[in-house]
Amino acid sequence: MVKEQFRETHLAKKISHITFAINSHHDIARQAHVNVVCHPLYSEQDHTPVPYSALDPRLGLCTKQGECKTCNLPYLDCIGHFGYINLEFPVFHYGYFKSIVNILQSICKKCSRVLLDEQAKAQYVKRVSNPNLGYLERKALRSQILKKVKKKSVCPYCGDLNGVVKKAGLLKIVHQKFQKSKKSDLQVMANELVEYETAMQSNKELEGTLKTSHLAYILNPLEVLNLFERIPVNDVPFLMMNPNTGMPKDLLITRIPVPPICIRPSVKSDFKSGTNEDNLTMRLSQIVLLNDQIRHQVTGIPLDKQPTNPGRGLVQRLKGKQGRFRGNLSGKRANFTARTVISPDPNLRIEQVGIPIHVAKTLTYP
Ligand SMILES: [Zn+2]
Ligand SMILES: [Zn+2]
Repeated sequence: MVKEQFRETHLAKKISHITFAINSHHDIARQAHVNVVCHPLYSEQDHTPVPYSALDPRLGLCTKQGECKTCNLPYLDCIGHFGYINLEFPVFHYGYFKSIVNILQSICKKCSRVLLDEQAKAQYVKRVSNPNLGYLERKALRSQILKKVKKKSVCPYCGDLNGVVKKAGLLKIVHQKFQKSKKSDLQVMANELVEYETAMQSNKELEGTLKTSHLAYILNPLEVLNLFERIPVNDVPFLMMNPNTGMPKDLLITRIPVPPICIRPSVKSDFKSGTNEDNLTMRLSQIVLLNDQIRHQVTGIPLDKQPTNPGRGLVQRLKGKQGRFRGNLSGKRANFTARTVISPDPNLRIEQVGIPIHVAKTLTYP
């Protein structure tokens, strides 16, 4: 039998290229169907899922009864739908943290412009906006620019002082604007502290605290977001980013996607009344609650609401021997059967499985 590559007959499409981009604030809302804002999952009267909660029926089905509120398809055919949660306070993205620190090292912490003077910009502009630059060349250029901007201690545009920016512990960034050894820096700091003078005179401890916090200023995610939002579009290529596929401000999380219900199903409990919820659902509902508390200016997180066990996240569900691919999809075995590992095959349709003829023709029984 001659092997023939399988092709869908009614589709004639040729992919010319693939571009990777950051999943922005805007994209997440566009892919979603519900803005999740309600903390309780079930209504107290009739125990049905609450609309606009993490179990809103428009996010898909997890039982065989009824049909989906978004696509009107039954359980087996509905593929599930996304929702989203708007965060009241931005959060650093763990995977982008290094890039965030690098960008902060490259821009002025007052006016947000890239710390290259006009002359240097003119020198680099052609090379940074060349779309055909290879990965290694881009990397080398990036570190060359970074080296240059790190040396700039005074912004060429607004004249403000810029010091060392570095990571300080888990998801914390400090900006050491003033150098303790430089007399001129300390003078600038004293000038900035003038407005606290009356307060400092009546409270001697305050002076020390203010000085320490000024020498190592902790940049919170909101301040970083405000800085990134003000970076001029023309300056973005100097950060080796393409304004068409992602802006610096997209590196911070301001909105999170809520995955469809079918990947985090509720399970009816056999032992007690009610349901057992997946820990992803619980975590999403907690985020909504904390969001609410931030909105109403409640300070601190109540002890019982603080995250305890890390639980099984999305990556843990997919990877490894027990994960979805290797554990549930690849190799399956039963008594008196041949065992194989399933791999993708361009000669087969997506719902077909290939079996060697010898195996297919041999039926054994105990
Ligand atoms: Zn559906
Ligand atoms: Zn500046």
